[in-house]
Amino acid sequence: MSVITEVKQRLDIVEFVSEYVTLQKAGRNFKGLCPFHSEKHPSFFVFPEQQSWHCFGACGTGGDVFSFIMKREGIDFGQALRVLAQRGGLTLSPREAPSKAEDEKKERLFQINEAASEYYQHVLSSTKAGVTARSYLAKRNIVPETIKAFRLGFSPDAWETIKNYLLGKGYTEKELVEVGLVIEKEEGGSYDRFRNRLMFPICDIRGRVTGFGARVLDESLPKYINSPQTPIFDKSNSLYGIDKAKSATRKKDLVIIVEGYMDVLTAHQHSWPNVVGSMGTSLTEKQVEGIKRLTSNITLALDADLAGEEATLRGKAILAYSNIEANVILLPPGKDPDEVIGEEPALWQKLVEQAMPIMDFAFQSVISKVDTNKARDKSLAVQKLLPSIYEIRDPVQQSHYLKRLARELKIEESAIRAALRESKAGRKRPQPGKPTEQSRIARQFMSSPIEEYCLSLLLQYPELRPLAGEVSPEHFEFTENREVFVKWQHSSDIPSLESELDTSLSEHLSYLVNKKFPPATRDSERTRHRDLANCILRLQEKLSRKLEAEKEATLEIERERGGISSELAKLEEQGIDSGLKLQEVFVKKEKNHGFN
Ligand SMILES: [Zn+2]
Repeated sequence: MSVITEVKQRLDIVEFVSEYVTLQKAGRNFKGLCPFHSEKHPSFFVFPEQQSWHCFGACGTGGDVFSFIMKREGIDFGQALRVLAQRGGLTLSPREAPSKAEDEKKERLFQINEAASEYYQHVLSSTKAGVTARSYLAKRNIVPETIKAFRLGFSPDAWETIKNYLLGKGYTEKELVEVGLVIEKEEGGSYDRFRNRLMFPICDIRGRVTGFGARVLDESLPKYINSPQTPIFDKSNSLYGIDKAKSATRKKDLVIIVEGYMDVLTAHQHSWPNVVGSMGTSLTEKQVEGIKRLTSNITLALDADLAGEEATLRGKAILAYSNIEANVILLPPGKDPDEVIGEEPALWQKLVEQAMPIMDFAFQSVISKVDTNKARDKSLAVQKLLPSIYEIRDPVQQSHYLKRLARELKIEESAIRAALRESKAGRKRPQPGKPTEQSRIARQFMSSPIEEYCLSLLLQYPELRPLAGEVSPEHFEFTENREVFVKWQHSSDIPSLESELDTSLSEHLSYLVNKKFPPATRDSERTRHRDLANCILRLQEKLSRKLEAEKEATLEIERERGGISSELAKLEEQGIDSGLKLQEVFVKKEKNHGFN
């Protein structure tokens, strides 16, 4: 039995979801207010028999206990597996989980950062050493509530204060070096990394302090320093403020990415809680992965001075995701988001509303600077735009921009396609190892042949990718298959897929990649197309059967709410769109019950 199946068997979804959502019995099932969108009437259902959940409201989505915790906590599959395994009292093998010692070590490092954060906060708020920093923040219009919420602090202008404080708490010098708070001297001894700086604790999505950003208060350089890479801090997958922005991001279905710490503080202070900081020049794929679990709409706030190709470079990581909308906001010349949000809130609101798709922006700024009648300018424009077009993994969108480039530059599309193929050349496809016989037999009882057949086709025949546009993660009921599919959507080849996938799934991947097909499928492209089309059809049927069964189950509850249903029926008889009137009926009902 796979560890994923075992986890599912040990946990009851009703019990688990109840910790996050107040559930009430509804027939054989349970209902509650959806934790993923705001609503007044329960449209979120949990089905104990299927061990699944579904939101019939705005989300229109569902899944199993894995997808629930992943969505709720904004964590990835691997983290979900560890959380759930622990809950189910399962011990993961070393291949599936970092060793216990490693976990404990990380836990200690988090504790150290937590203690350091408290110390810095105390220095800022309650000591003479914090006076300058306090007046600096006041000058930047950061109010005490924001300082408290973001736990800002100050590191004293001394060499061994945080070190001695933490040593006094029982942590070792080695640990302090490891977490990046203390720097080792070559000649022996060590000293505080952060001195005389305003401290910004950087948290993961769960609110644990992973590292620090630190700013000088005068004009000295460097203006900002960060924690180095440590076992718990990796700048390339951190987003400043993500722990505070996560629920607003989910609710608004949009995240706005700015660069600086101060930009994030000002935004949150001015009721823009869905703003996070990238802390660097360009967005990384790891950062996008984190955001993707919360929303599929990303807006980047960029400097006006950036050229178009530079802007797309910064957003390059987003282009690789076909289901993410990437827009850019261009700030007025010489202004930071911080200044615009604070001084001209109406302008900021307008900029957010008028954000432009990132590729449109790149086209506009590159093409406007070249003379499309000159051969040299044409090839210059191709050189500048092609790398971004190359990054777009959605074939339809890619084709759209290729055509547009050809049209605007007045050249043959085939010439641009040839240039694109050239940059694609040189990719290899090594095969992962063979699966064991035993696990193969076990799998036959635990998975869905149709899901696996579909995945194997897609994995083994990359040319089928464009045909899978209609397939969504929802089509895969088995968590293993769903996770492989989700990661496949954003991987260009098997090795990159394998590196993205949690190690507990590598055996499953290898099984899918090595699955044997009948000769007709192997030898003919036409057969493969037909096979895949059939698979997709059957997956769709399977999904709609499941949804129907779930809907059927909720019908009992609809009948419970008979009053409302009959009113709706009446409206429908009169030819009035029930969707439009639904709101009014609910409002009326509430008034009748004296809720308002
Ligand atoms: Zn919902």
